[in-house]
Amino acid sequence: MSQQNICPEWPEIRREEYRGVYVYAEHDGNSLKDVSLELIGKARQLAVDLDGAEVAAIIIGGTDAMARELVETGADRVIRIVGEGLETYNPVRYSMAIAQVLDKYRPEIVLIGGTKRGRELAAYIANTLKTGITADCTELEIDKASRDLIAIRPTFGGNVLAGIRCPQRRPQMASVRPGVFPKPSRDPTRRGEVISERVDVQDGRMRLVAVERKVERDVADLPPVEKADVVVVGGRGLGSADGFHLLVELARALNGTIGASLMAVRAGWAPHTRQVGQTGKTIRPRVYIGVGVSGAVQHIVGMLESKVIIAINTDRNAPIFRYVDYGVVGDYKEIIPRLIELVKAAPKPTPTEKQPV
Ligand SMILES: Cc1cc2nc3c(=O)[nH]c(=O)nc-3n(C[C@H](O)[C@H](O)[C@H](O)COP(=O)(O)OP(=O)(O)OC[C@H]3O[C@@H](n4cnc5c(N)ncnc54)[C@H](O)[C@@H]3O)c2cc1C
Repeated sequence: MSQQNICPEWPEIRREEYRGVYVYAEHDGNSLKDVSLELIGKARQLAVDLDGAEVAAIIIGGTDAMARELVETGADRVIRIVGEGLETYNPVRYSMAIAQVLDKYRPEIVLIGGTKRGRELAAYIANTLKTGITADCTELEIDKASRDLIAIRPTFGGNVLAGIRCPQRRPQMASVRPGVFPKPSRDPTRRGEVISERVDVQDGRMRLVAVERKVERDVADLPPVEKADVVVVGGRGLGSADGFHLLVELARALNGTIGASLMAVRAGWAPHTRQVGQTGKTIRPRVYIGVGVSGAVQHIVGMLESKVIIAINTDRNAPIFRYVDYGVVGDYKEIIPRLIELVKAAPKPTPTEKQPV
């Protein structure tokens, strides 16, 4: 199939000038986001199919410890961006800084974590570099013959998986949500280069100014939804925010955490950070318990990798029952309090005892 230049006004690029797989390493000042390390692991795999291309991490600021962690996780090189105006997050400044560095080093692939910040930056950077971005990929592969990235993601409401290429532009960009790829373990013997790049982002076009920093209130001080072994997920069937308080109690008793369906988030019962599914987080806990969740495909894609799936639903024909290991047909208001009692009464495993899944 011949390829038409879809944007003739954009300058031609020479694909052979672009080499390497780069990952934007996001952090909160204290630690790196797990998704950035997950992407370093994936970048290492992609590099194998690109004749051992370099894997590099780009980080704004960061600490020596973060740079070490990136190298020990698989980066050959860490580029630390420094410059005035980068002390606090600003999408315009951050994307300008990253785009400047990408333009200098010319990687063929750039991977960005599909976090709130990552999604925003990815769009700005792609626009600045005049290239394409495939968002929320669930798999990444290389077509060895052409060196093209095949960015795979659900489409048509999650019913079809599309393999998307960007053959005419470089770098090829993709974002991937947290938890899609496993986090590689650290190898303290790995060695890599850490270099500092000073950028200038003092630009007259700057129109975006942060006036206030607000931290979204969570329903409970429980671990993030992608970090617990047991996740109790509430859906619209809970009927009210009070239902979530029951789930919090169960999650605490199980030493786990809580998650939510999109509808529960929309109802304001839980923050978006706890949403599981296509436009939320992908989780792979040892135990998933869906309460009042119908099991729409957009939800299922975010939890199907759970080892044991349990659902509680009044409707015996709810789609979620197609995916469960254990299903309970009934009203959660009767079942959850009883479950909490049973869990609290159960003998606690001794530290050496292996917990059953
Ligand atoms: C592009 C796109 C992206 C999307 N992304 C996501 C996503 O990331 N995550 C997500 O979750 N959804 C997502 N959705 C929405 C998804 O299609 C569903 O609408 C949503 O998951 C339904 O949420 P729910 O199961 O909580 O609500 P409902 O579908 O309304 O289900 C409620 C369930 O609760 C049961 N119930 C009612 N009362 C009780 C009771 N007392 N006890 C027990 N059970 C009870 C009902 O039988 C029902 O099965 C997306 C949709 C689109 C189009």
